[in-house]
Formats: sequence, C-alpha cells, structure tokens
Amino acid sequence: MERRNTKDIVVGSLHLGSAYPVAIQTMWSSPLALLADNDQFEQMLTTLRTYATMGCSVIRFSYPNRDEKAIFTRICKESPLPVVADIHFDWKLAMEALACGAHKVRINPGNIGSKWKVEEIVRCGADHNSAIRIGLNGGSLPHALRQGDHAEGMVSTALTYLDWFEKWGFYNTVVSLKDTDPDVTYRAYRDIATKMDYPLHLGVTEAGGIISAVTRSTWVLGRLLADGIGDTLRISITDDNEYEIAAGREILRTVGREQGGVRLISCPRCGRASFDSQAFLKKIQNRLLQVPADVTVAIMGCQVNGPGEALHADVAITGIGNRIYFYEKGILQQEVTAETAEEVLFARLKELSHAQ
Ligand code: SF4
Repeated sequence: MERRNTKDIVVGSLHLGSAYPVAIQTMWSSPLALLADNDQFEQMLTTLRTYATMGCSVIRFSYPNRDEKAIFTRICKESPLPVVADIHFDWKLAMEALACGAHKVRINPGNIGSKWKVEEIVRCGADHNSAIRIGLNGGSLPHALRQGDHAEGMVSTALTYLDWFEKWGFYNTVVSLKDTDPDVTYRAYRDIATKMDYPLHLGVTEAGGIISAVTRSTWVLGRLLADGIGDTLRISITDDNEYEIAAGREILRTVGREQGGVRLISCPRCGRASFDSQAFLKKIQNRLLQVPADVTVAIMGCQVNGPGEALHADVAITGIGNRIYFYEKGILQQEVTAETAEEVLFARLKELSHAQ
C-alpha cells in the first residue's frame, strides 16, 4: 500500500508528508483565558505530555482574540507538541499568532476577506518559518460554489489558494477539505490528491459524539488512508480529546499505517462473566494507549473464550469460574483479583516495553 508522494512540510519539530508517519492531532477544548492561572497552565502541559505518550503529535488552539497573546506565547514556548493556531475571519489575529510563535496557523482564506490580507498572513508565515493549513469547509465556500457540488467547489477553491501561495513563494502548506457529508469529503480528498502534492490533513467536520464521529471518520478516513492518501488527521469528537487520539491510532493501525502499541482483544461481557471485563477496560484504556510495547492484550470475562483468546495474546486477564487469572502467551502465570489485576498487567507491560 503506497503512500501518495507529497512535499515535506515542517511544523516546529515535526515533519509532515509521505516520508513520515501519519501524524495525529487534537484540539484544546477550553478557553485560553483559563490558562492565565499558573496551576491550570502546568496542568495543561502535563495533559499535553500525556497526549504525546498516547500518540498525538500536534495540538491546535483557538486563538480568538488578542487578550490571549501572553498566554499563547507561553504555550508556543513551553508546549511539548508543535502548536497550531486556529484563526477565523481576522487576518491580524493570524499575524499575531505567528508572532507569538505558532508553528502553524490554520486559516480559511475565504473568510479572511481580501486577497491582500491573505498575502500578509502568508508572508508573515514565511518570515516565521511557520506552516499554514488551508482549511476549507463545504459550508463556508463562496456563495456561487455552495449551490453546486461541494467536493468540486472545495477542490477548485483550494487549488486557487495554493496557486496564490506559490506565487508569493510559500510552499510550507497543508490542505484540508472537510464537509459534514462524508461522501463529499471522501470525493474531495480523492480528487485533490491527484492534482497537487501538498500533504493532506484528513478529517470529517462536526462529526458528532463518539459513535457517529468514529463511524463517519472510519468510513471516510479509513478508505483514504488505505488508498495511500492522508498525512495528518484529526478525528473530531464531541467528547474528551483522549478519544480523538485513541480513535486516530485505531484507524491507523487497522489500515496498517501504524505499527506498535497495544492491540486489544476484549469480550463485550455477558451474564456468564466472572470478571467484569467492561468495567476493567474502561478503567485502564487510557493507560493502555500509553504503552509503547508492540503487544496483544486480551481482557476476557469468563472461560468460554478467555483461555482461548489468552493463547493468541501476549498477555491476558480472564475470569475463569469465580476467579481471575493472568496469562502470558497462553500459559497461566498467577491468580489476581479485580483490585490487583491492573497492577499485575501494567507491571508486565512495562517490562515488555523495556525489553523491545
Ligand atoms: Fe460472555 Fe464469557 Fe464470552 Fe465474555 S468471554 S462475552 S463473559 S461468554
């Protein structure tokens, strides 16, 4: 499965493009003003470090007004992840975010206003060695194009903007074409992938809560990634960012775009369960995502499928009768309890991570 060949784009310490892994992004969901409090700021940095260990490579912040300049400058300096500023409407805010140290700004040139304002942003991006994402959205196309096929409209509009950027000597560009209709989004990305060689940021906009967002995103992004299209992605979910990162990794692993980390086998739990696999998994799933070892972990409720799945897994926790056991490569290691299972499992996963 070949990746589509793209230019190499630099976003702070990160490279985007076909020569590099597909990068997962998420977006900070609280107002910047809250980070004026030093404890909250430190907590935010800790959270970003956790995101990084979960597999996230880029963090995006809304930069809605200039009151946040000092906070945003501090974020750009101290963030463990490259920082993207999300800008709408106000070209001066984009310039300011770049001056604060943003490694990339996301703009929709269509809502910035005049072409000269877009040019100011692009030239400022070049001065700061920053990247720019041309982030188009089917709902905000120019009025004439909004009546027709959004996929065609987004592709032709993006190509026009790329042409402007190149005429101004700017090439550190990423493109996204999102629509609430998954089919429109898929067709737009497929089409533009054959017409230019800039990296593509994949996503389905306003995709909803976990179930609808993951389903729609998998349907669109899974097929694009399997076609070799896509260099960075965000799974937009109206829920915690950890789900966005986890969903991104699962999609990348499922289509074979990412190796390593935990592959999980778990039973849904039913009336036979002597071990509450569902509650246990809920408790440990974010921790599992931070395990770098390339391992298969099985979490099973009872003897019907527990020992069988333990045979295929590197490590397994399964209920059997009234008891709970820890297995390694199908061999029973020790009995555990609902309270000690997490500790035993992660102690072994830590050893396996060090050994690999
Ligand atoms: Fe039910 Fe046991 Fe199968 Fe889990 S492994 S779904 S508890 S029968």
